[in-house]
Amino acid sequence: MPTSRAAKQKSYTGGCLCGSIRFEAVGPAKKPHTCSCKMCQRHTGALTAAWVEFPSSSVTWNGPGGAPSVYRSSDYSSRAFCPACGSSFGAIDDKPVVALLLGVFDKASAPELMPTGHSFGGGRPRWWHVDASSPTDG
Ligand SMILES: [Zn+2]
Ligand SMILES: [Zn+2]
Repeated sequence: MPTSRAAKQKSYTGGCLCGSIRFEAVGPAKKPHTCSCKMCQRHTGALTAAWVEFPSSSVTWNGPGGAPSVYRSSDYSSRAFCPACGSSFGAIDDKPVVALLLGVFDKASAPELMPTGHSFGGGRPRWWHVDASSPTDG
């Protein structure tokens, strides 16, 4: 009988600046995209955020600080951050989805994490360029 190792899905790890909050997300990573909406900008401090989504059940918060703190940012979602160092992790939705920012991944270079679309392209300054294809990109 094959062990679970043979069918093991890809796992992604990451964590915050201080190392208190760590995660493991088991693939596949869904909907890799960038977003330049005002909420993402304020959440991250960056003009554009890069995201991937996982089912909540696929994400384990395994650092010494446990799960991140959350700020209720809309009717259906909360933004997650480290209470010790302030690093942004992304959005924990009420529907069982966790959307993680690529910047907190240990290795964001995996090709399947490359954003394939850009949301709210009009929210960024004209001099800020994002290399992601999208029919709605401005
Ligand atoms: Zn931290
Ligand atoms: Zn956004």
